[in-house]
Amino acid sequence: MSAGGDDLTGGAVRVIRTAGDPVLQQVCAPADPADPALLGELRDMAATLADFRARVGFGRAIAAPQVGVAKRMLVVNLGAGPQALLNPEINWRSDETQWVWDDCLSVPDTLVRVERAASITVAFTDHRGRPQVWERLPADRAELLQHEIDHLDGVLMTARAASEADVRSGAPTGRFARPG
Ligand SMILES: [Zn+2]
Repeated sequence: MSAGGDDLTGGAVRVIRTAGDPVLQQVCAPADPADPALLGELRDMAATLADFRARVGFGRAIAAPQVGVAKRMLVVNLGAGPQALLNPEINWRSDETQWVWDDCLSVPDTLVRVERAASITVAFTDHRGRPQVWERLPADRAELLQHEIDHLDGVLMTARAASEADVRSGAPTGRFARPG
């Protein structure tokens, strides 16, 4: 993507907020690309995600409330460097769904079985204020983005569990490794 990683370097690693922290339970405010604090916050999100990946070996995305910022923004790293998504909106969902064992940086050592749309289309603004659309995402990215956008609405994966049998303790394995 053209939103190059260079602009998102140089941030500080922040503490990742965990379940029970009120900032994870609120509906976040819209992100304003003209907000002077925004770039620094996005850089900190990128640095925190990179630090987690370096320590743990996986992690593809982080939502602003996970570093204590109640604004509608995500940083995603799908292998080509960090990208910022401001005000992401799901504007199409497939009828087909998928069941996945989900995990989360903010709910350590826990896996939750959740049902998600198999594919979605997401519209957002990049950190330079340009509108972008990711159309009909493949299943793994669709799941990731649904998980992350839930964070912006104060919803943790544990709230999506249909029953207690859908919640397991255990560290993510390679198979499940897509936390955010
Ligand atoms: Zn999460």
